Amino acid sequence: MAGSLLQIVPSATCLHCEVCCRFPERDSFLRPFFTAEEIENATTAGLSPKHFSNPAGTQIDLVQNPVDEGYICPAFDPATSHCRIYDVRPLDCRLYPFALMWDAMHAQVVLGWDTKCPYMRDLSSPATNQAAHELAQWIEKDTTVEILARYPRLIGRFQDDVIVLRSLERVTERLQQGSAVVTTRALTLPDREHIETALMLSAGHDMPLAAASFAYHYIWRHLLSYAWVDLHNHMCLFAESPDGVFMALPPLGTGPIAQPLDAAFRVMRERNGDSLVTRVENVPEACVAEVRKLGYRVIAKDADYLYAADDVADLTGEPYKSPRAACNRFLREQGGVFEPYDPRDRTACLSLFHEWSEQKQEAGADDWGRALLQDAAGAHETALSFAHELGLIGAVVRVGDRIRAYTMGMWLSPVMFCVLLEVADRNIAGLAPFIFREFCRQARANGACWINTMDDSGLPGLARSKQWYHPARLLPNYIVMES
Ligand code: SF4
Repeated sequence: MAGSLLQIVPSATCLHCEVCCRFPERDSFLRPFFTAEEIENATTAGLSPKHFSNPAGTQIDLVQNPVDEGYICPAFDPATSHCRIYDVRPLDCRLYPFALMWDAMHAQVVLGWDTKCPYMRDLSSPATNQAAHELAQWIEKDTTVEILARYPRLIGRFQDDVIVLRSLERVTERLQQGSAVVTTRALTLPDREHIETALMLSAGHDMPLAAASFAYHYIWRHLLSYAWVDLHNHMCLFAESPDGVFMALPPLGTGPIAQPLDAAFRVMRERNGDSLVTRVENVPEACVAEVRKLGYRVIAKDADYLYAADDVADLTGEPYKSPRAACNRFLREQGGVFEPYDPRDRTACLSLFHEWSEQKQEAGADDWGRALLQDAAGAHETALSFAHELGLIGAVVRVGDRIRAYTMGMWLSPVMFCVLLEVADRNIAGLAPFIFREFCRQARANGACWINTMDDSGLPGLARSKQWYHPARLLPNYIVMES
């Protein structure tokens, strides 16, 4: 469909460059999007359909780079630096090093050039502007505008390393046509009060999931862009992942959720097109009957582990013999001290995180476990840096004069405390059970009847350690999708 597009970078330059078609992460949001027609063309040209999770249009699934670190497009041949489907490569690739994206406010579709392309960095401004002018004319033609309206995911999210060249008025207008234009606001620390008030008014607040808190989401902001908007008097929290936009929580507020849910799904469809990413995460049991009645599909995901505070604070009786013995051993051998977290402990805690992460990798974390550890670094940094602003309560354990464990958590309700993160030197026997028990004791002393330790992220080792403390119950958590 884009056969007439001028390729601004000469092929000889591309063949010696190491930027395109290679990606540092498997789920990079920069991997190319293929429309249904482009998937058909690519598979006819020999690419396996298994690389496309949705034949109706999707970003391609990357594969491990066989000769270097990171991942590559499966159509890329690293031996020759050629695209195996060059003649039918998708529009996304044909446009490059130009890029289509929303501006920072998600108000305008813009055309820009990617500063990651070394050739473009050396190209004169008049030449770049002339090429952009011609490209913009082609993009604003009826046929291209209709393709973009059908596949809104061809328009990427804002990237600050893409230099904006011009706004695409016709594309913007077409994408906003017939849609109630919803302007979301980026989630910031001052929004904590608003979200916490809305959570208090929502169904399920008496037995909340760990996700029913501000900090649970905010600490992942280095991976997901969070934004919110009030729809029909309900606060709707959206998260933008590399694959598109989803709701991080059901609409929050009092009263029926039919209208806000419908409006929120419209927002997601407009951003995601047909993508399966459109969904609502972290829906509590209390909402399930209502959304089922509205005709949505409800799927169970990993449940939160919930403990009676007395059980995990006292560790009495036969079932708790092992964790109790581990705590006693720690006290006998190390005599560590449990203390409140102080912001001055941040640097020591961060360096402990890196030590702990290496210990876990040496102990044989699988690919999934390693990816989680990498992602967790930013979350721990945010939690340790903004503990007070996030409403987090922290504690450390010192052995000698060194911090060898830290933990952080927050109140989900006046009687439920959630342990959000915990790091303990794996070479010190009994340290992890000790800091957990002390933290639970502290929470119980402040009114906790329940301790929520979140889900196990599908990690068998984490599931085993959570089972070790005999959860009183599992708190179900659901995903809601359109049928
Ligand atoms: S389709 Fe071809 S040009 Fe596009 S990313 Fe894959 S290998 Fe590169």
